[in-house]
Amino acid sequence: MAPTSQPASTAVPGVKKRDVSLYQFFAPGGVLSRTHPAYEFRRGQLQMAQSVEQALEEKRHLIVEAGTGTGKTLAYLVPVIRSGKRVIISTGTKNLQEQLFHKDIPFLEQALFPDGEGRLNVCYMKGRNNYLCRKKLYDLTGQPVLSGLEEIEHYRAIAAWEKTTQTGDRAELAELPEASALWHKIDARSDACLGQKCSSWDKCFITEMHRRAMESDIIIVNHHLFFADLSIKQQAEYAPDAGILPEVGAVIFDEAHELEDVAGSYFGVSVSNGRVEELCRDVEASLQRNHMLSASISGALKTLRERSMFFFALLPQGEGRFSFENRRDFLEENGEEFMALQQSFTRLGSELENLPSKPEEVFNFARRAQELQVQFGFLMESEDPNTVFWIERRRGGRDKFNVYLQATPIDVAPILKTCLFDKLECAVLTSATLAVGGGFEYMRRRLGLEHTRESVLPSHFDYENQALLYVPPDLPDPRTPQFAAKAADRIRQLLEITRGRAFVLFTSYAQMNDVYQRLLGELDFPMLLQGDAPKSALLEEFRLTPNAVLFATSSFWQGVDVQGEQLSCVIIDRLPFAVPSDPVVAARVKSIDAEGGNAFFQYQVPAAVITLKQGFGRLIRSLHDRGLLALLDNRILKKAYGRVFVESLPNYRKTTELKVVEEFFGVV
Ligand code: SF4
Repeated sequence: MAPTSQPASTAVPGVKKRDVSLYQFFAPGGVLSRTHPAYEFRRGQLQMAQSVEQALEEKRHLIVEAGTGTGKTLAYLVPVIRSGKRVIISTGTKNLQEQLFHKDIPFLEQALFPDGEGRLNVCYMKGRNNYLCRKKLYDLTGQPVLSGLEEIEHYRAIAAWEKTTQTGDRAELAELPEASALWHKIDARSDACLGQKCSSWDKCFITEMHRRAMESDIIIVNHHLFFADLSIKQQAEYAPDAGILPEVGAVIFDEAHELEDVAGSYFGVSVSNGRVEELCRDVEASLQRNHMLSASISGALKTLRERSMFFFALLPQGEGRFSFENRRDFLEENGEEFMALQQSFTRLGSELENLPSKPEEVFNFARRAQELQVQFGFLMESEDPNTVFWIERRRGGRDKFNVYLQATPIDVAPILKTCLFDKLECAVLTSATLAVGGGFEYMRRRLGLEHTRESVLPSHFDYENQALLYVPPDLPDPRTPQFAAKAADRIRQLLEITRGRAFVLFTSYAQMNDVYQRLLGELDFPMLLQGDAPKSALLEEFRLTPNAVLFATSSFWQGVDVQGEQLSCVIIDRLPFAVPSDPVVAARVKSIDAEGGNAFFQYQVPAAVITLKQGFGRLIRSLHDRGLLALLDNRILKKAYGRVFVESLPNYRKTTELKVVEEFFGVV
């Protein structure tokens, strides 16, 4: 069972925690050296702690790049605890959230307050869809709409668990599959939540989480929850009860290289055929349960379903993500169908409002219908120049597509500046990959950060001796058709030298599958392929299988940690430029160029530098790791922009010769 809160304490952080200076904590002979079993003095860690403390005291923002091995979590946690401020720590991954909550904070409490006095209130919050909505579960109890034996079994397990759980966090239900359709029907997502009008409000897990957060010194969240909350607050114009995260003195964004993408998705708008269907289903189930489903409401639902289906079928065809630039032409041709859809939202809304003595949730359905109508209106008619409009179509089963109509801010910087950085006293942004060419201009510009303190910390690792970077000068340009065959052959040669023990990372699924097929049967090592099993299972298999080679794409470029000899080689097929035809990337490129900038150098190259640093960062995870990094794309040597990549990478030893790779592994 994974508790999501530590016991409450009335202690106020502050005076006592100041008894120990940062130097006395981190320096040799200090508290850390006496309490941490694997203590090493890390100059960068102390420097980072001092910078964070200064930023907290001066109420300034700070960007700090701290490479793997700096020990950056302790470097921000100690000054946070000493500050006595309530602080949110927002991370990119669940792994880091868990490390903070289960490992780093308990360790620091033990080190700083061995007698137990002055312990912290810490709250670990996940996205709302991780928690059970009691109301939805109770509604289901009256009229279970379950499909199949498995769902009935899960329902029984959840109903029993609901009676005992303190948190409502699905992580406690190990037996519940990740993609459970039943959970989706009963989770606490905000769109169906009745808030204070809910009959289960007092014992609601979300209410409880909110209360805990209000009492906490440190609140651990992920970027998705943080920006979802921020966008709710912005829409509600910062009404005091909007959102679930309390006011804080500072926010620490760890894994901050992900902020632009996550913020973009929450300050955008998205509707889908699935969302319309979900509304219809919820209305139907609720009214049936309450014996209120009249013929006219059934008619309104039927019309809405038909018109939605028709409208989504009319949208431009294609799979994946693509731009929807010609909305005006589309509306000229299909304006009537769009208006008909809009009217069916109005009709459903008024049918619901006209219901006599209706339950509270019916008001919520009317609000959802109106919200969808407004969002469809924005998506089809807005001329906002800072928004890109696009469509995503994903296969959702045989002959079934999930279609999303999306609007994303082209530049999140002005939004973040106004809604976040101008309002916050102190934001600390940290990650192992934030700087490009040794500076933060790219991050500052993309995120709207002004007047920040900045710091790039020296690495704790001896990269020059721990890692060798190999770039083959003789391979063809990766954009040519000859590349795959030659690359596969070179990968085989490299793996023979390293005896497998490698991640081979690709920038596309097509390239991954192509090279994998070419090497199948050619290697003497076990080959694992992304997609053959869930990510965590593949990683576990990689760790346990001697000499394994894992072929993977973007999801393995970050947040993956394999220490030791088992991972001795990371091969990357090409410089990881974002796909230029992606609608959001294309709009950003166009906008920067239109403003007289140079999108290639100001956006595409720096973004690719950050991604490449992430990918290579998989190799050296401890002082004892050693291995080969291979980039099969020699544009890094031949093109002028290659210099930016080279200057941004740690000072790995570099070679263009296979012989040197062999020597490095003692093969010759
Ligand atoms: S308050 Fe919202 S999330 Fe909580 S039980 Fe009620 S409907 Fe569900």
